[in-house]
Amino acid sequence: MITEGQDINARSSTAGHIMSVDVEDYFMVEAFAGSVPRNSWNAWPSRVVASTKRVLDLFDKYNTKATFFFVGWVAHRHPELVREVAARGHELACHSFWHRTVYSLTPEEFREDTRAAVNAIEDAAGVKVQDDPALVGVVELENGLPFLYIHPFFDG
Ligand SMILES: [Zn+2]
Repeated sequence: MITEGQDINARSSTAGHIMSVDVEDYFMVEAFAGSVPRNSWNAWPSRVVASTKRVLDLFDKYNTKATFFFVGWVAHRHPELVREVAARGHELACHSFWHRTVYSLTPEEFREDTRAAVNAIEDAAGVKVQDDPALVGVVELENGLPFLYIHPFFDG
């Protein structure tokens, strides 16, 4: 609880990452999956770079850090955005490659999708995920979509 007279900026600068951002474009949402095939994504005008930079500026203004969950497709297409997020002090994390629900994939497809997303983020950021299972991989699902925390990303 913040009381009167407290310095909100001082308080937020000592907090851990409590903000998270899904870095994905509007045409990737699951609700559009039936009418916007994934092989057409390249044809849609992208808004993800401009909107993510707007969020980055807001976070800078309020001295806030966050975890940015990149869809691998975005990291592959806009590697400069991954580098900018990392350079501005935020945590990188993985939100699959093709933004598909886990329950629609076989275990092999899930592994391949996750590996492709991790590779895209690694390539973009110029960091490597360490091979330590304690450091790699806490998967959470939200509406069936995977969010993968990959801790070494934010150390690099
Ligand atoms: Zn998402």
